[in-house]
Amino acid sequence: MGSSRASKPPAANYRGVIRNYVGGEWVASSATTRQQVVNPATGQALAEVPLGTAQDVEVAVAAAQAAFSSWRQTPPQQRVQPLYRLKRLMEQNHDQLARTVTEEHGKTLEDARGAVQRAIENVEVACGIPSLMMGYGLEDGASRGIDEEVIRQPLGVFAAVCPFNFPAMVPFWFLPYAVACGNSFIVKPSEQVPLTQRAVFELIAEAGFPPGVLNLVNGAREVVDALLDHPLIKGVSFVGSTPVARYVYRRAAENGKRVQAQGGAKNVLVLLPDAVLEKTVPNVMGASFGSAGQRCLAGSLAVTVADKGGRAASAIAEAARALRVGNGFEAGVDVGPVISDQAQERILAAIQRGVDEGARLIVDGRGAAESRAGFFVGPTVFDQVRPDMSLAQQEIFGPVLGIVAVDTVDQALEIIERLPFGNAASIFTQDGKAAREFHYRAPVGNVGINVGVAAPMAYFPFSGWKDSFFGTLHGQGRDAIDFFTDRKVVITRWF
Ligand code: NAD
Repeated sequence: MGSSRASKPPAANYRGVIRNYVGGEWVASSATTRQQVVNPATGQALAEVPLGTAQDVEVAVAAAQAAFSSWRQTPPQQRVQPLYRLKRLMEQNHDQLARTVTEEHGKTLEDARGAVQRAIENVEVACGIPSLMMGYGLEDGASRGIDEEVIRQPLGVFAAVCPFNFPAMVPFWFLPYAVACGNSFIVKPSEQVPLTQRAVFELIAEAGFPPGVLNLVNGAREVVDALLDHPLIKGVSFVGSTPVARYVYRRAAENGKRVQAQGGAKNVLVLLPDAVLEKTVPNVMGASFGSAGQRCLAGSLAVTVADKGGRAASAIAEAARALRVGNGFEAGVDVGPVISDQAQERILAAIQRGVDEGARLIVDGRGAAESRAGFFVGPTVFDQVRPDMSLAQQEIFGPVLGIVAVDTVDQALEIIERLPFGNAASIFTQDGKAAREFHYRAPVGNVGINVGVAAPMAYFPFSGWKDSFFGTLHGQGRDAIDFFTDRKVVITRWF
């Protein structure tokens, strides 16, 4: 057996060893090592996940490749029929899916419901594939009597490698578009949260996709490497930390695959003196402490501009102290646990480093770690953070917010420009000109104007710049259609 992460007795609804879904069947992994799946709010084991093998990938790719030739020949308007059924099944099981997310990830049930909704919206958009996948043509495009057109065709087998923080939503940035375009697909969920995709694939099994079109393979590094190296896999979508994103991008590209690799982040929230504080502060709370700060769009650095008397910083600290920490299933809880004991230790170490570097700890969330079962860290706020401190530079991926005070918007923008990451940045102001200048200059892929979490809807690309994204075509939106199809130019003349 693999590593043991839970120290408590198993949960009453312990699920045993999770299977893979391959070629329309639930099959056992060939792995000999397993890892416990743990409820981070209680420390109880929920299941065991096999740390899958290259052999598991081989079997899944064979099934996906076998399914591809007839799936690609299924007309687009027929390919979307199982997606419509999947949408309906996900709606009918919305609450149960959200509960599974909260159980294995820890985020509040309300947050989990929102994330399941985002997954469903991606299915809805992909149901429009007969329109979205259209090409274009020009009569007499080559010369008189010679027409020219572009058509889009699917490529074959694609795979997605997913992070722990959005167990329901992230696979759906890719899955519905890939199969609607006529490809077959393999999902590799995070080994920390495999239960949500297991539940999703139970619905996929009901929705009536031909066997092999959609496959689920559990595991960690060995499975990822096998996906990156397999000659029949045409493209890989990755979401996770920057070092792994960079690695995935390089290795898959070396193997001639398409790659879109979304990485980590350090997102800055800029507060101008005219920000409407009573509306801004709740946005900052949601952005910084929602999902216990474990979001790639989390606002983990607030930059206050000309904040006379520290008014904004005090309001942020006061609101953070009022947040309720607890099990995500409990009503009224704002901040659930972090994903694991290792994550908890890492975040506590980052807080200590902030103290050691001389930032001022004005809300200390470390007490929650001691006072509760499970892996908790309470909302933590530092002020007097300098841009060169680790609090301002590194992704902490926990409920920790640093506040930097500056005098001008230029100085705020300089902080964003110097960061290696470029996922998102937000500005809070009533000044349209300042907001316009901010979105013009901020070198990030997603900008919020009086919006703390600038999360694009399904019909827009989930952008990301610099070390937050490796590739050209993003997830969701029109980019998804470009990623999952190739364009073919047809020039026609009839004698
Ligand atoms: P992670 O990089 O540890 O893991 C992501 C996936 O990669 C998992 O499926 C894991 O099994 C696999 N993996 C891990 N190490 C690997 C290795 N050495 N070789 C091959 N595969 C490996 O990330 P995580 O902790 O699950 O997720 C949190 C990170 O994801 C944060 O950095 C967060 O910012 C980022 N994230 C980014 C976005 C985005 O849109 N940019 C969205 C969500 C999460």
